[in-house]
Amino acid sequence: MRSRLLQRNLRSDPPLALSGEGIFIRDSNGKTIIDGSGGAAVACLGHGHPRVLAAMRAQEEKLCYAHTALYSCEPAEQLADLVLQDEPGGLTHLYLCSSGSEGTEAALKMARQYHLERGEPQRTKIIARRQSYHGNTLGALAASGNAMRRAPYAPILSDAFSHVSPCYAYRDRRDDESETDYVARLAAELEAEFQRLGPRNVAAFIAEPVVGATLGCVTALPGYFDAVRKICDRHGALLILDEVMCGIGRTGTMHAWEQEGVAPDIQVVAKGLGGGYQPVGGILIGGRVVAAIRDGSGAFMHGHTYQAHPVAAAAALAVQQVIREENLLENVQRMGALLGERLTERLGNHRHVGDIRGRGLFWAAEFVTDRATKQPFDPALQLHERVKAEAYARGLACYPMGGTIDGRQGNHVILAPPYIVTREQVETIVDRFGDAVESALAGLPR
Ligand code: PLP
Repeated sequence: MRSRLLQRNLRSDPPLALSGEGIFIRDSNGKTIIDGSGGAAVACLGHGHPRVLAAMRAQEEKLCYAHTALYSCEPAEQLADLVLQDEPGGLTHLYLCSSGSEGTEAALKMARQYHLERGEPQRTKIIARRQSYHGNTLGALAASGNAMRRAPYAPILSDAFSHVSPCYAYRDRRDDESETDYVARLAAELEAEFQRLGPRNVAAFIAEPVVGATLGCVTALPGYFDAVRKICDRHGALLILDEVMCGIGRTGTMHAWEQEGVAPDIQVVAKGLGGGYQPVGGILIGGRVVAAIRDGSGAFMHGHTYQAHPVAAAAALAVQQVIREENLLENVQRMGALLGERLTERLGNHRHVGDIRGRGLFWAAEFVTDRATKQPFDPALQLHERVKAEAYARGLACYPMGGTIDGRQGNHVILAPPYIVTREQVETIVDRFGDAVESALAGLPR
């Protein structure tokens, strides 16, 4: 081992990331890599954006920390006002924390508190979806349906969570079933789960509008979230949308739910909020939830030492200003369309590429042994890691995910370049990715 730092993988010493500029990272192997996935769909502005660095430095010189039990701070207040300036979907307030997992925890507790304040303490159940990921802390992991991440910690701490099917048309829509019928089947399954739990015991339903790491950029079919919203409303449960990965512009609109025609009661955000310049996440909260707490106990019964951290808030504020002032959502839409088009041209007919899917600058390819049967590769082959290694050798970083998540879907790899990516860079990313995929597949043991 190179040092005493505990890495994710205790048997490997990854290269050191030394510096970054724009969409590039330079590392200790002497390589300059295109950050084709912005880490895990984090670095939305790329690296070293001068405006964000200047904002962080200015805040550091003024004040690095003050506890929220006594103080608020300017950048956090300005960030909340900017993110919620038009009260999108009736969301009126921002609570800030330091990660996506903390955001999920805050969302779950706020949903519970909302019902408590309204005299419904029995609403303790949370319905989530299989093959989902909402974070690694034990509460967020209990919500997550990601079997691979849950299994080592079974029995999971809470029995408040149950799971229904995700909207995953590529695998789950039957051949003889229309899209409308498939959506109706999923809605009936959710309704049945409410009935099984007792509708008045359910606090909230939580889902990712575009499923990120676990399934690989899977969008819902039209009408799905509308049906979900109606079921939640009918039973008085809150809708929590986890936009940690797909939010803050990643899919071409500021919020992924805008493209579904529904708004959540609570929305979790993180990666694109601070773009990786600081660890920062948060929840956007609907007016009626805020009102219930304000008119009830008056305080959210939750908090962390580093919530609304001044430097993290200053970084996030600058990131959000840049996204708006440089009109980057338009670039996400244009470059995202190009990325999807080029990926499909390059790999769409490959016999081991089962599906290419995504929205905005958030795309994934799912690999299968056979396109007709959609049979996944043997997880032991670690195909996604092979693609990652081949891509790295060609100067491209991408985000791989294994086929062992529930033993059913194939391996997939995500591309999620920064919002500043150019046309020429998109072409290079697809060239390198296409070569990497072909080489990884050709190199599999036979
Ligand atoms: N929710 C979603 C949808 C995510 O993709 C992630 C992380 O990948 C999380 C929650 C957890 O965020 P974090 O890793 O910042 O704790």
